[in-house]
Amino acid sequence: MKILDGKALAAVVQSEIAEKVAQLKNKRNITPCLAAILVGNDPASQIYVANKEKACQKNGIAGKLFRLPAETTTVELLQLIEQLNADTAVHGILVQLPLPKQINEKEILDAVRPEKDVDAFHPENVGLLSQGRPRFLPCTPYGVQQLLVRNGIETRGKHVVVIGRSDIVGKPMGLILLQKGVGGDATVTTVHSRTENLAGLTRQADILIVAIGKAKFLTADMVKPGAVVVDVGINRQPDGKICGDVNFDSVKDIAGAITPVPGGVGPLTITMLMLNTLTAAELTA
Ligand code: NDP
Repeated sequence: MKILDGKALAAVVQSEIAEKVAQLKNKRNITPCLAAILVGNDPASQIYVANKEKACQKNGIAGKLFRLPAETTTVELLQLIEQLNADTAVHGILVQLPLPKQINEKEILDAVRPEKDVDAFHPENVGLLSQGRPRFLPCTPYGVQQLLVRNGIETRGKHVVVIGRSDIVGKPMGLILLQKGVGGDATVTTVHSRTENLAGLTRQADILIVAIGKAKFLTADMVKPGAVVVDVGINRQPDGKICGDVNFDSVKDIAGAITPVPGGVGPLTITMLMLNTLTAAELTA
């Protein structure tokens, strides 16, 4: 059984990004810049944004953090987004989710200029991906794809079962693996909470990607011997420790390769955000 080490891979990819950022500065005098917007005081969001800021610094990307109070209105947030959309020094805009309840999340995400939408949540970017001509790939599923490709795991012709159909992970994961070419060409089945005979389907998977937000949900009896198992889940247990959606201790003995949590998909998500910010800067005229 092979452990798919996302932390180590993230370090490799980030050093590649840092090199390309330096080249962009030298050749075109452009410093990629990511503007992050944090509304309110959600503790997990504070940690995520701090980690993103750290990653920016490490890669030579300029980071601008906008902290807004929890009672911010949709109109006020839209004003800030308009300002950042127009700012030519800003290449990527990230709105940290979840937003407080009074804010219309869809309206906010739709307002981000698609060329600066480094999370790839805007309908234009989702549409481009769906048509097989992506501008940006959504960070978490992009990280999963890179984890597979860079560990020499073939997706072409393989049966991939994705558990979860969210707009952030499950759905774009399937779209990415359906693309033609390296890291694509898979046969994708997406399953969710209404799926019948879920374990019967997961047992058919050559590659299993689990993104449901239920601690230790996937057990060994749901896995084909030798399958590759990728755990996207991040769940905080009562003792404060983080665990994934896969029961690692039971599945590790049957899987051919498996991601740990933490240290699997998580570090790659942030890395792909850096890569998308670099891409956004490179795409500016
Ligand atoms: P959502 O809650 O948005 O979606 C969960 C999906 O799982 C839904 O499609 C739901 O089905 C499905 N689901 C829930 N329970 C079951 C079940 N018992 N059987 C089958 N399907 C089920 O979550 P996200 O996609 O946003 O996130 C999933 C997990 O990944 C979370 O733990 C989250 O913290 C983590 N995550 C990790 C990231 C990282 O960087 N590593 C980034 C983003 C998320 P239905 O649609 O029918 O309700």
